[in-house]
Amino acid sequence: MSVFEAPDYDGHEQVVFVNEPAAGLRAIIAIHNTNQGPALGGCRMWPYASEAEAVRDVLRLARGMTYKAAMAKVKLGGGKSVIIADPYTQKTPELLHAMGRWIDGLNERYITGEDIGTNPMDMAEIKRETRCVSCLREEDGGYGDPAPMTALGVLQAIGAGVERAFGKTDLNGVHVALQGVGNVGFNLCRLLSEAGARLTVGDVLADNAERAVAAFGAEAVEADAIYDVEAEVFAPCAMGSVLNDDTVGRLKAKVVAGAANNQLAEDRHGDALAERGIVYLPDYVANGGGLICCEAEWYRLDRDAVTDKVKGIRRTCVEILEAAADQGVATNVASDRLAEQRFRGG
Ligand code: NAD
Repeated sequence: MSVFEAPDYDGHEQVVFVNEPAAGLRAIIAIHNTNQGPALGGCRMWPYASEAEAVRDVLRLARGMTYKAAMAKVKLGGGKSVIIADPYTQKTPELLHAMGRWIDGLNERYITGEDIGTNPMDMAEIKRETRCVSCLREEDGGYGDPAPMTALGVLQAIGAGVERAFGKTDLNGVHVALQGVGNVGFNLCRLLSEAGARLTVGDVLADNAERAVAAFGAEAVEADAIYDVEAEVFAPCAMGSVLNDDTVGRLKAKVVAGAANNQLAEDRHGDALAERGIVYLPDYVANGGGLICCEAEWYRLDRDAVTDKVKGIRRTCVEILEAAADQGVATNVASDRLAEQRFRGG
């Protein structure tokens, strides 16, 4: 198969295919763009059914990181890596060390981190072979779990959306329907509750939803019923592709902002939301707080400055909303254009 002609190839700077049978390692590292700094993006471990599927995933994810980094205003570019293996049965220290050596060979052009199928302990193993790792635990020299900062960023996006949709500058009394009370979702529930918002939550794991009921007096609904809640805001914090042909028409909310990656099943669902008068804050902008944390960890920036920078996500959201209105396009399109101006500007 040809990479340069693959549908998801978008001028990526470098795509590295790794094969080290002795360590059980088959992997692909994709560097999309380094105009703003070294390419940062997680390492996904997944038993892809085919090489083509792995190539598609790594190209798409690396490109997405460039856009996210540009809008988070971090000195980083976009990259990603995938290891073609089952994380439950095939992950070994030898495999992770081998991956670390290949990453190290890229001379700080790519910095890895955790993703689906890998965790902070795996990053500590990779770090034995390279310093190009982020999302490390504090005991391993990192800045710890980025989820609280991701949640703080989503809160900014919700604030900007509520102001645009309702002319309200705070979240007191605003009803938020939150999908997925995991690591980010629970932190977001706390921040929303402190801001005086009313919460309805849905999670496929009832115990996770119950945590928000017990801690913040949230109301819990069946996971699939979350789309139908009569709330002002819908905050997707679970899976991707949740804004699709089946769900957009069901939403009662006038604002959508959440942590989940790739919320739009297809770009046209951004138009579908706009046509329904729903203010959509693009996922990769709303959830950029974690990346701001990773930037601080990599460059050893002052940790207190991270909070201020994450709060800047609100201003970025306002910029996107204004650009979308001026250009007469959906917010996801306006956001992509702004990101492209930034990273192509060099
Ligand atoms: P997590 O695994 O801790 O939480 C996900 C939660 O969603 C779990 O409680 C899970 O039970 C629930 N869930 C799964 N499928 C669901 C469904 N169909 N309906 C309702 N609930 C469902 O993950 P997380 O770290 O909180 O991340 C949440 C999302 O945000 C993910 O898409 C992740 O990629 C994205 N994200 C996370 C970070 C971060 O800092 N952790 C940063 C950027 C983006």
